[in-house]
Amino acid sequence: MELQGKVALVTGAGSGIGRATALRLAAEGAAVGVLARTADKINAVAAQIVAAGGHALPLMADVSDDAQMAAAVERLLGELGRLDIVCANAGINGTWAPIDQLRPDEWDRTLAINLRGTYLTLHHAVPHLKRAGGGAIVVTASVNGTRMFSNSGATAYACSKAAQLAMVQMLALELAPSHIRINAICPGSIDTEIDASSEQRGLGAIKAPVDYRAGQVPLTAGKPGSADQVAELALFLASPRAAHITGTPVWIDGAQSLLVG
Ligand code: NAD
Repeated sequence: MELQGKVALVTGAGSGIGRATALRLAAEGAAVGVLARTADKINAVAAQIVAAGGHALPLMADVSDDAQMAAAVERLLGELGRLDIVCANAGINGTWAPIDQLRPDEWDRTLAINLRGTYLTLHHAVPHLKRAGGGAIVVTASVNGTRMFSNSGATAYACSKAAQLAMVQMLALELAPSHIRINAICPGSIDTEIDASSEQRGLGAIKAPVDYRAGQVPLTAGKPGSADQVAELALFLASPRAAHITGTPVWIDGAQSLLVG
């Protein structure tokens, strides 16, 4: 119970990595704000935490909406009293298409949820971490933030993930005097519902030297990682065991991204 007495906010907690992270943090004693857009999903995750003897607060909000995020963080503070840990995890694959076919509205949507959503989450949460005297932030980025191995038309996605990593480095310096650590998780292929948030178009024209979609994962003979494995890393980075780690991307991909160096 290493997070006893702590309060965490996990965005994109309705499924996949966010859901697993919310459950894992709660199992370690944290009270968890379970934030996503779909009431059914966040209510189910919160109910699972409560059934296991934990403490959870479902928060319905779109991370790209300033007013909704302000209200959600306000509500979390009102109900749970403090904030110590933020997992900025909500994200979509968005549209993967050759650049000449990627529409401006599709570009905007991916950047709005993955990048603006991360900014808004931290914009509203950080003052409360400061008020608590410090804290930990974990941003779910992607191997696609630095290692462009997928060659899959995921330009908007990769830009959003690379920008998240820049944000993590800038904020590691900015927030260090406030005793707030911030790190990024860079997953490779993980078995979640993320593909439901994808649209792929016109990719036949793109010749991939290593096909991300073929699921090549050296460590597991092609099998994707699990959300629980990523949640374990999020817990570690959020915990006092990672006390001297900040500004760092951590890869969790079974060496998948090393296939292209
Ligand atoms: P998922 O689709 O299972 O979960 C994403 C969650 O984010 C869902 O609960 C969804 O409702 C929520 N969400 C989406 N848009 C939102 C919005 N505007 N406001 C609030 N909530 C929103 O997928 P996942 O794989 O668990 O994705 C979590 C994170 O992991 C994402 O940032 C994704 O880019 C990253 N990631 C995933 C993989 C993978 O292979 N699964 C690889 C690298 C990075």
